[in-house]
Amino acid sequence: MSEKKIIKVAFPHMGNVYIAWAAALKKLGIEPLIPPMSAKKTLELGTKYSPDSICLPYKLILGNFLQAIEKDVDYVAMISSPGICRLGEYGQSIKNVLKDLGYESKYVELQLYDGFKGMYKFLTELSGVKNPFVLIEAINMAVRKMFVLDRIENLFSYTRAKEINFGSAETHYNKALSYIMNANTVRELKKAEKAAVEEIKKTEIDKDREIVKVDITGEIFLVQDTFANQNIEKELGRMGVQTRRSLTVSGFIKDAIIPKCFKQGETHLERAFRMAKPYLMRDIGGDALESVSDVAYANERGVDGIIHISPFTCMPEIMSQNIFPSMREDCKIPILTLIMDEQTGRAGYITRLEAFVDLMKRRKFIQKKQELANNIK
Ligand code: SF4
Repeated sequence: MSEKKIIKVAFPHMGNVYIAWAAALKKLGIEPLIPPMSAKKTLELGTKYSPDSICLPYKLILGNFLQAIEKDVDYVAMISSPGICRLGEYGQSIKNVLKDLGYESKYVELQLYDGFKGMYKFLTELSGVKNPFVLIEAINMAVRKMFVLDRIENLFSYTRAKEINFGSAETHYNKALSYIMNANTVRELKKAEKAAVEEIKKTEIDKDREIVKVDITGEIFLVQDTFANQNIEKELGRMGVQTRRSLTVSGFIKDAIIPKCFKQGETHLERAFRMAKPYLMRDIGGDALESVSDVAYANERGVDGIIHISPFTCMPEIMSQNIFPSMREDCKIPILTLIMDEQTGRAGYITRLEAFVDLMKRRKFIQKKQELANNIK
């Protein structure tokens, strides 16, 4: 009797999303094939087979698939959305490249805006599993892991900005990630989160160090993916900056996947429509609406600065960057806009970050001096 073949599925990287994907697939008896972490080779490979003017996420995603396919996968799985930006074209374009190169792996797509139902359908088709309890358990595990990952990311960022030995927070964080990755049940995950928090807290920090706080917004792939954004948060951490990602995958899940009846409080997208209104009335694709609203939100919270990162040729983010100047009257927060592609040089990019951090520190110093003077009066 022949053994049942285990299906192998590869999916692209975007920050730590692979941990959540892997959790769902494992629950369904599928072997998740995690492509090598994105690196120079991934980008070179993706760029080689990409249309010239396509955005950076496409090149990296294609590079991930091409590297995964070398390991003999049955499916490559992608997310897609209809509509206004190039994400809607990614699927067909990737399919064509894989076909032209003679690969036999099947291409499957999760339609982002089909919500929970779409995810359910996608996983059923992929795995052949029909049992709703198993499917819901798989989705639940992936969603919970993503929320945990985003929570520990915030703690990591705080710790890194205050660490005494540069790099030690990251060492503990990587260990913490392995706890999350190895958790197979909700109970184990709860324990793993506790252990992960304790692990990160082992980092020796200077509690009294004055740090500046920065929000990171822009195109979601670039905000999440450390290779694509040249590890911006690590560089900022080195300069004593605590970062907070305005766009998170858990935030996106809350908007797109979790059914309404389970949601609590205002979601990111709801806040985006509310706060972007004076400057942008409707969704113009990509994450432009969120980016505009994130500036207003950071300003309202008195954050020291906000960095907007976008891929070269990303139309929605070009639009949002053009709106920022008109927000100046209401939003005094310093904004740094960074455009990235495979040509972005490291030295110039670090210089811009250093100058921005310097500006925020000076501004903070002046504000404190003024507050002190006002108190004395
Ligand atoms: S938001 Fe921009 S970078 Fe992302 S897929 Fe759309 S066009 Fe490309």
